[in-house]
Amino acid sequence: MTARVLDGQALAVRMQAEIKPQVADFTKRYGRPPGLGIVLVGDDPASQLYVRNKVRAGREAGFRVDLERMPESSSLADVLELVERLNESPVHDGILVQSPLPKAMGPGAQQRVFDAIAATKDVDGFGAESIGLLSQNRPKLVACTPAGVMELLEREGIQIAGRHAVVIGRSDIVGKPLALLLLHRDATVTICHSRTPDLASMCRQGDILFAAVGRAGLVTREFVKPGATVVDVGINRVTDPEVAARLFPTGHPKLAVFQAKGSVLVGDVHPEVAEVAGALTPVPGGVGPLTITMLMKNTLKAALARVL
Ligand code: NAP
Repeated sequence: MTARVLDGQALAVRMQAEIKPQVADFTKRYGRPPGLGIVLVGDDPASQLYVRNKVRAGREAGFRVDLERMPESSSLADVLELVERLNESPVHDGILVQSPLPKAMGPGAQQRVFDAIAATKDVDGFGAESIGLLSQNRPKLVACTPAGVMELLEREGIQIAGRHAVVIGRSDIVGKPLALLLLHRDATVTICHSRTPDLASMCRQGDILFAAVGRAGLVTREFVKPGATVVDVGINRVTDPEVAARLFPTGHPKLAVFQAKGSVLVGDVHPEVAEVAGALTPVPGGVGPLTITMLMKNTLKAALARVL
């Protein structure tokens, strides 16, 4: 058996085409485009790339996107002051502070900044109020990656109610909100993490298995109930030839990419799982493209909530 591919890239393109006329309509009706303020502190290369993609996607869809860059040496107070200014801004409906913040700001800085964003503008859904509302099943703005996963399952006709969903990973930005969304859609949910004993047999009970870990190829065929849907949230850049050889058999196209470039992007799910699963999200081209699309959707939703 070869798993059906759940094509997040194609869905993202379709959703962007749906969002664009709604953004144009908003702009015509209210005399301004829906606006997103993005705060980038420091020079982390991965963050710069993510932010560039968000700015480009937003502007292409017709949003106003303002990028506020702050130096690595900025203090927590500087960031909080900027967030406060964006909270008060009449032209910004959504605010996103790219994580991680510089380590020098201290361990609690990230959550303090997320909590300082007005809940009505919290398009990343990471603030305490957004998460509290989600946990009570009265969500306003939901974290983009878990929301994108749910959108993909829904549009692909994957049944959730009454099924056993197993989520590997319990982070505040992916695992936990995803588990809550699944619970509210009447799945029976098991959350696994680094201290879960016998992870493979726990995962094998899942009708739908979600991997949000950050370990290349952790989920092997032993983890997967035959015919299960497997959603791979992980994004890992493999640079070690031994890891590449463990993941891809000789002649595999991704091994050729690795040999040519010296690195390759892979998920948490081992490629062999395609032979066991019923449906599977690819990496890249699965969950990733939907994250930015859901950010656009959240920004439009926040803008509409402010004007209505
Ligand atoms: P994270 O904060 O590092 O959390 C990872 C989770 O995995 C933790 O709960 C950890 O358990 C668990 N874990 C680690 N090693 C494990 C193991 N060997 N067995 C079982 N569980 C293990 O990561 P995250 O921010 O949630 O991101 C997870 C992955 O998703 C990363 O690859 C990230 O790049 C990717 N991601 C993708 C998108 C996207 O747009 N597609 C968005 C966000 C994140 P403990 O809690 O016990 O430490």
